[in-house]
Amino acid sequence: MAHVTVKGLVIRETDFGETDRFITVLTAELGKIEVLCRGIRRRKGRLANAVRLFCYSEFTLYSGKSYTLSDAETDMSFWGITSNIEQYALCCYFAELVNLSADSDDTSGGLLPMFLRALYALDRQKRPVQTVKAAFELRLAADLGYAPDLTGCAVCGQAECETWSFLLENGALVCSDCRKRVGGTYFDLPQGVLTAMRYIVSCDGKRLFAFAVSEQTGRQLGQICERYLLFHLDVRCTTLDFYHSLFQMESEQ
Ligand SMILES: [Zn+2]
Repeated sequence: MAHVTVKGLVIRETDFGETDRFITVLTAELGKIEVLCRGIRRRKGRLANAVRLFCYSEFTLYSGKSYTLSDAETDMSFWGITSNIEQYALCCYFAELVNLSADSDDTSGGLLPMFLRALYALDRQKRPVQTVKAAFELRLAADLGYAPDLTGCAVCGQAECETWSFLLENGALVCSDCRKRVGGTYFDLPQGVLTAMRYIVSCDGKRLFAFAVSEQTGRQLGQICERYLLFHLDVRCTTLDFYHSLFQMESEQ
């Protein structure tokens, strides 16, 4: 059995047996891998901490038919996330999205840095969960091949309009004149939301979460980015239902 050393982010834990655990690790070199951690639930200290959810660690693995943990050392931890229920719920949703998307090698290269930056933005920079969520969703959609075309009206080509609409099915802008002639699911797109969406799809990935919007713009942006991503991925995420339930509870209190 050969040893491999690889850095990666733990995005899922699944306990089994009395003391064992499978972890799913997102890596740059190997994509998404499953690692068997024998006896880890009995352990405390350095090794146990390095394989916790949302830890970015250097793993030494036995590589045979599958990967088995030999050793691990924490590189970056985001334990603050686990003590904030909204941040934690959001990161579980990101992890589910990444789990769904990371199978193909060509996309896994960009997912890891984006996930790490999202964790950093929430944990260290205290960026609002709503804007981090919207930026992650829209940029993920774009990276998976569903980049919206936000340059001008998809029908008549005009670049200026007071009241844009966004067509969910094909990620296109439509001006107010053309909207009457084209069917589909539309969102009204105020200028502030359009500006934020243009920023999210075109900015340097390092600056993805470095923008601010008003509360109302953030709310509209959030609805559009979520609907757009889930429509194109064609999935329902249980972790997203849980995330929304937190805000429902808040508004009911
Ligand atoms: Zn038009």
